[in-house]
Amino acid sequence: MNDLVAKMQERVLGRTKLRTKILGVGGICPQEVYEKAMEYGLNLFDVHEYKDATEVDNRIRIKNALKKSSRKRSEVIFTDRSSALTREKLLEDLDKTLGMLETDYLDIYGLYNVTQATGRVKTATGQGGALQGLKEAKASGKIRFIGGVSGHHHKEIVQLLKTNEFDVAMVAINLFDQDVIKDVLPVAKKLNIGIMAMKPFAKGLFTEVPEAALKYVFSQDISVAIPGMMTVAELEQNIRTAAGFRILSHADNAALKQEVDEIARTQGKNICRQCGYCVPVCSKGIDIKYIFYMERQANRYYSIEWARNEYAQIKKSAAECAECGNCENECPYDLPIREMLKNAHKLLG
Ligand code: SF4
Ligand code: SF4
Repeated sequence: MNDLVAKMQERVLGRTKLRTKILGVGGICPQEVYEKAMEYGLNLFDVHEYKDATEVDNRIRIKNALKKSSRKRSEVIFTDRSSALTREKLLEDLDKTLGMLETDYLDIYGLYNVTQATGRVKTATGQGGALQGLKEAKASGKIRFIGGVSGHHHKEIVQLLKTNEFDVAMVAINLFDQDVIKDVLPVAKKLNIGIMAMKPFAKGLFTEVPEAALKYVFSQDISVAIPGMMTVAELEQNIRTAAGFRILSHADNAALKQEVDEIARTQGKNICRQCGYCVPVCSKGIDIKYIFYMERQANRYYSIEWARNEYAQIKKSAAECAECGNCENECPYDLPIREMLKNAHKLLG
């Protein structure tokens, strides 16, 4: 694997001039995946707060993986972000991450889900907002570059990038997110803003053709793709794909087309991208995102029994929807969530 990583294409992360392998490590991975990724020589790790059932914070796992490896801190790029809107909270979040990673700087630190709800961008970029905190952190050397404008509302992301305050943006790129490719990438290129591509497999939609899906992302104007990987086998498969990547071939295009047709057949045209923006605004506390995840498992991966069993255990079913419409106002993909919930309930309930 080390040989494959050594020969893997590198790209420059926009104006930061940092060089990264085209495959980085994102999402939430188990300890052994972080350790192997460090050992094999991948060099960009997207770090962020998350605890799973084991209650071990993601940042601790990454710190342990670096310690266990023979690599120096300066050989890896750490990126992280905060969902804080104010300067104080952002600086507090940053200090927490630095403490957990046992490092005195992050390479890139930025705003997370800043486009999630109306008014957030204005607060974050206004007086005393999170952007002010980022600038202070950069001036004090705690972060090297301002970045990680992440989110799913691409129009707001474009607006933010045009302020020219950001060095890097993190956006969902896959065959289903054509608006981002069409609207965000040209602006980023013009301003020399590095692009970190998250969700290359569209949250499990493209798991049947992972190689072609990943190559599709590499073939876009991006610096690095950062899938989350649940097993070492998955990591190694992605390393093989990235090391062998030259162009998106006719065979890859054919595989992707077949997959898209199959997704349309099993999922219909309304596809939840699992961003979760709808969940905090639901007046009934329904975990909309998870319901659509279960529905996907039932429809696409034929795990109907698992999905029904899981659905029976959730606190609030789709039947409790009060039709207030809050969720639809927040959905970046303009999905008819109320209608979709009724269908999901019919299938799972
Ligand atoms: S329409 Fe239903 S699911 Fe959507 S926010 Fe209102 S109660 Fe929640
Ligand atoms: S329904 Fe829309 S807002 Fe909710 S998780 Fe899916 S894509 Fe995101």
